Amino acid sequence: MQQIWAPWRMVYIGGDHDDKCIFCKILESDNDGENLVLFRDDKTFVLMNRYPYTNGHVMVVPKRHVGDVDELTDEEMLELFKNTQKMIKALRSFNPEGFNVGINMGRIAGAGVPGHVHIHVVPRWGGDTNFMPVLGDVRVISESLEATYQKLMEALSKLG
Ligand SMILES: [Zn+2]
Repeated sequence: MQQIWAPWRMVYIGGDHDDKCIFCKILESDNDGENLVLFRDDKTFVLMNRYPYTNGHVMVVPKRHVGDVDELTDEEMLELFKNTQKMIKALRSFNPEGFNVGINMGRIAGAGVPGHVHIHVVPRWGGDTNFMPVLGDVRVISESLEATYQKLMEALSKLG
């Protein structure tokens, strides 16, 4: 049976384990390129997952530190989904055969950053379950992330 959705693999690790939320840290930083932030909007921002499930795995995140969907305001929900759609359009330039779009709420459900809710947008291709083993080399991962970041920035600029 083909494995199609394994949210528990989507751990987003900031490298350290202090109390500060990785998304809030990234928001406070002005180094968006290094943090793989694609753009900041009014109430949300979009960044690439440093530990992608597939090439092009991005996350759409509210700027406010809220853990659950129930706490989101109407404006935040609208912008989260608007930017989810925008990323799907941008990722179409990678010619995926499908997408997984989803939210893991709580550690038990596989949330890598349980205190700060976020939407995963994961482009899918046939046979892409081999992606992680292929990218076992850390150097290859970072080169690939940078290349993907540039491609996505170009795709986003074309969307206007
Ligand atoms: Zn946070």
